[in-house]
Amino acid sequence: MVEGVDVGRVRELNRALVLRDLRRRGRSTRAEIAKQTGLTHATISAIVVDLLEDGWVREVGLETIPRGRPPVLLEIDPRSHFVLGLQLGPHRTRLSLLDSLGAEIASRDVRTRSKRLETVAGHCAELVADLLSSVKVARRRVHAVGVCVPGVVDPVSGAAVDVPGFGWRDEPVGAALSSAIRLPIHVHDDCYALAGLELLEGRAHGERHAVLLSVTGEPAVALIIDGRVHRGASGDAGSLAHFQIPGLTDRCRCGNAGCLGTVVSAESLDRRARGPVRASLDAERMEDVPALALLEAAGRGVPDARAIVDEVAAHLARAVGWVLNLVNPDLLVLGAGLTGLPATMLASFSEDVLAACHPGVRSVLRVERSEFGGPDRARGVALVALHESVEHLESVFPSVAS
Ligand SMILES: [Zn+2]
Repeated sequence: MVEGVDVGRVRELNRALVLRDLRRRGRSTRAEIAKQTGLTHATISAIVVDLLEDGWVREVGLETIPRGRPPVLLEIDPRSHFVLGLQLGPHRTRLSLLDSLGAEIASRDVRTRSKRLETVAGHCAELVADLLSSVKVARRRVHAVGVCVPGVVDPVSGAAVDVPGFGWRDEPVGAALSSAIRLPIHVHDDCYALAGLELLEGRAHGERHAVLLSVTGEPAVALIIDGRVHRGASGDAGSLAHFQIPGLTDRCRCGNAGCLGTVVSAESLDRRARGPVRASLDAERMEDVPALALLEAAGRGVPDARAIVDEVAAHLARAVGWVLNLVNPDLLVLGAGLTGLPATMLASFSEDVLAACHPGVRSVLRVERSEFGGPDRARGVALVALHESVEHLESVFPSVAS
């Protein structure tokens, strides 16, 4: 035995390789899996015994071959294990249950009752219990819970470093949720959850250099550089909230003045929606998410609402231009917080962004609207949890990880 090798870890990674191969290619035989993964037949046989015992994999008949003993076909049993995605927002809380092949089998979308972490955790535990019992899935069958929040998190400790919508500063979100829900919790920021969805199933699938822009709480980009999501030294890469924008003067909670987040953020839009423009906004929407009421009114052409949104969009376009000039991507995906904008407003925002890029960057850049919206974050973070916990991928980027 090679000294220093963690046998348990090697076994876990080999098991992940087998599951990943079956997930990608569907039905397969032990011999074919050995060929595809490069593992020995003996190793594959031992792993398959374990996976059959745990219910992850099932035998589904024999392969047809011209002569000799036909090999047994295996496939993942999609209903044997599950992952949950939990999307925490200051207004809405969403839950998504996926089977082990990533198909959504149930979801919930409810009003967020409180911003106190203990109350939030208790509420989430009730939601999870209710959802699992409604589809008759035992808790022990849930492998992991991916959680996303609109702000900066420490993905290692699971702490919410700075989540302004909840007023959380260094709050132990992961620990609180894991003790309330009693399942393994993986905490990410919204932008990472959306990037996972975009990379695995969306516009950025197979792209090497892409930027995904979203404004769920504060403006943020996911940077895909050389095929990997760039997370930075402290997991804080991609936040645009504290870019200093000439002309802005309001004091930011970070202590500086003129940060982009003082104007471009869900909180700031909520606040402006409650201002003089309120009379022109949909009352029911205002109760729900004020910022969305404002965006909808702008889309309907209400002049005061339109003026606010145009001003906000101009500041954002300028900051995004800086990012694009720095990263030089092939693709900019306009994601959550922007996908709901009417086509004409989105087109003029794209034009402003392109105008802020230098010609070399502009000449290769495609700008596309994401197929996903804010509510898809729950499914996105569940998918990320599925890939990270079951397949042990360091990156959610399949074209590179495979
Ligand atoms: Zn700031």
